[in-house]
Amino acid sequence: MTKILYKGSCVCGKTSYKAYNLKDVSFCHCAQCRNMTGHHMASCQADRNNIEIEGSVKWFYTHDKSRHGFCENCGSQMFWQNDNRPTISVTAGSLDDSKKLKVRHNIFIEEKGLYYEINQNEKQYSGYGNNNFADD
Ligand SMILES: [Zn+2]
Ligand SMILES: [Zn+2]
Repeated sequence: MTKILYKGSCVCGKTSYKAYNLKDVSFCHCAQCRNMTGHHMASCQADRNNIEIEGSVKWFYTHDKSRHGFCENCGSQMFWQNDNRPTISVTAGSLDDSKKLKVRHNIFIEEKGLYYEINQNEKQYSGYGNNNFADD
C-alpha cells in the first residue's frame, strides 16, 4: 500500500514533523483540550512509528498518561499522546497540507463549550466512544 506523507510545522518553524497515513480529523471537546487549544482540539492520529518529529517539543501532562506537545519556542500546539496507546496525534492546524482528510468524529461531547454546536452530520461519542478510539 502506498503511504501518504503529510508534513506539518509550528508558527516559528523550529519544530516540524513528517507523518504517514494519518486518520481523519478527530475533534475532542474535553475540558483540557478546550483549555489547551482555545476551542476544541482538532487532531489526526498516526501510529507512532509513522511519525518523525524534528525540533524541540515541550510536553505537558493534562492527565496521568495524557500529554500535549507544543513547540518549545513559539508554543504552537502540535501533538497529543497517551502513553498507553501506540499512536500519536498531530494537530490538524499544524498540517501544511491536509490533503483529503475529513472530520472523523467528535469525542467527549458531554464537555463541549456552550457557545457552539457540533455538526449533527458528524459522529459523536461521549468519552472516547465505546470503541475506545479504534476505527469507526
Ligand atoms: Zn515554533
Ligand atoms: Zn480532549
